Amino acid sequence: MKEFNVNCSKAFDHYIALDKHERVPLPVMVHLVFCPVCRAAVRQMAAAETLLSRPLSVQLTKSNLSDDPVLSAALDTIAAAGLSYPVRDPVAKRVSLLRWFLVGILLAGGFALFPFTSSGIWMQIEFGNAFVVPFYILCGCAVTAYGGLFVGTNIDLFVKRFKTLKTGF
Ligand SMILES: [Zn+2]
Repeated sequence: MKEFNVNCSKAFDHYIALDKHERVPLPVMVHLVFCPVCRAAVRQMAAAETLLSRPLSVQLTKSNLSDDPVLSAALDTIAAAGLSYPVRDPVAKRVSLLRWFLVGILLAGGFALFPFTSSGIWMQIEFGNAFVVPFYILCGCAVTAYGGLFVGTNIDLFVKRFKTLKTGF
């Protein structure tokens, strides 16, 4: 089990000093990616912030809007169209970062190595540029989509998600 060390406290102090939604600097991000201790702490803080802010968020329900028929009808229409704000638990059901990296490496490696496999060589000979150009476009799209998915589901490593308490104001 990894311990909280000097690097950790440096990275963590830096992280704590960031504002909410401020971009996490690269050295801190790299530390969070490779340090499970700090990553867990960051996620626990994000979860704590969600819990703490929950009583402040006003839930719009039919009961407190019943005096406004126009608004109720509008909300019903929106709900009927299937639009809603999904409430996501920031900690539960996460794919581990190791798995993300392994699959990413497999994906990129597969695309990089495919042209050198026997079927890849055969396709290049058979189809020439008609194969090579769409293949690299597909490869680029897949890797970009994968990267986007990774950033989207691990956004707390890239952007600070919680508010620090500001004193002295
Ligand atoms: Zn650490």
